[in-house]
Amino acid sequence: MHISRRKTRQISVGQVKIGGDAPVSVQSMCSTDTRDVTATVAQIHQLEAAGCEIIRVAVPDDEAAQALPQIKAAMTVPLIADIHFDHRLALKAAQIVDCVRINPGNIGAWWKVEEVIKAVNERGIPLRVGVNGGSLERPLLEKYGWPSPEALAESALNAVRALEDVGFTNMKVSLKASDVHHAIDAYWLFSHQSDYPLHIGITEAGTAMTGAVKSSIGLGYLLSQGIGDTLRVSLAADPVDEVKVGFEILKSLELRHRGINVIACPTCGRVEIDVVRMANELEKKLGHIKTPLNVSVLGCVVNGIGEGKEADIGIAGGEGKGILFKKGKLVRKVPIEELMDTLIEEVELLAKEKEAEGNASEPIGSSTEAGWEPLIPQSDHLSTLGKEIPVLPRR
Ligand code: SF4
Repeated sequence: MHISRRKTRQISVGQVKIGGDAPVSVQSMCSTDTRDVTATVAQIHQLEAAGCEIIRVAVPDDEAAQALPQIKAAMTVPLIADIHFDHRLALKAAQIVDCVRINPGNIGAWWKVEEVIKAVNERGIPLRVGVNGGSLERPLLEKYGWPSPEALAESALNAVRALEDVGFTNMKVSLKASDVHHAIDAYWLFSHQSDYPLHIGITEAGTAMTGAVKSSIGLGYLLSQGIGDTLRVSLAADPVDEVKVGFEILKSLELRHRGINVIACPTCGRVEIDVVRMANELEKKLGHIKTPLNVSVLGCVVNGIGEGKEADIGIAGGEGKGILFKKGKLVRKVPIEELMDTLIEEVELLAKEKEAEGNASEPIGSSTEAGWEPLIPQSDHLSTLGKEIPVLPRR
């Protein structure tokens, strides 16, 4: 499947480019108390090790804002401060972080938003404009009767135009709803009226499993339509899982090629090895590898090698022995008890070989050149309000 990504403007959050032809980046948010620097930095290091590319922390009060310099100094990926209500916290955070997330609708008087714009402009950092179904402006709620996708899209477009009116364009936008259909529709509406890069996500998606399913459906649909420049999978779970699920979604759509892709058979009555344990163990033990590699674990040789042709390397159960294969060709037979260690060693070797050959870097993703015709003529000063909102397609 070839996905034509919608063409968006490009911004930079620290060293990470978002929008344009940049790969879709994976973010997460710390679940620790930001005031607890030790715990927050420890979690940031876990997220960085999992490949998280941008990390956000909540800044609910002054003490949290004061912790930001220490946190920022201990990390390598860009840091985003998440601010609600109190613009003074945004002013403090803007001195330290790489991006500030605000919802202009809950910051209060417009002069406060302008002060935040001045502060981020002084450091040349972007804003994330985040609108949320739970905090929509009253006039929009009265107009639409509920926080509908149209209301969310209009709220975001209002914010974008108001910021553009004071000359500010260094922003990305998110429109979060916890209902998958509503989130998809809101992002669809916005993306057909604006070319600002989009941070996509299904908010409050749920626990590790239900949240992963909802996010995969919602984000998978949007990404397959070319919508989305950076993402966060929101889970009521360890944030490291958010990063893993985020990359799995992108890998499934072939938008990113990163690390080990474990292909495991579902097993059946012919199974000769403990596929489930081995596949899980592989994901854990090889999580540090960034080189894209397909690694196969198959229960038997009946279809084993044939089914594993697409894999760079793999194992299959045999009669009392296992086999190791590469690109569908038998390499050697290995005693079952040595199978896992052998595979791990071979994968590490293969990853190093690929790195040495210069094949470790992932492709940028699908072209943004084709398939994007803005519904509304775009200009440097994108003004969207007052235009008719396109009608949502029937799905
Ligand atoms: Fe069954 Fe073998 Fe296919 Fe696994 S590879 S599903 S064990 S036939």
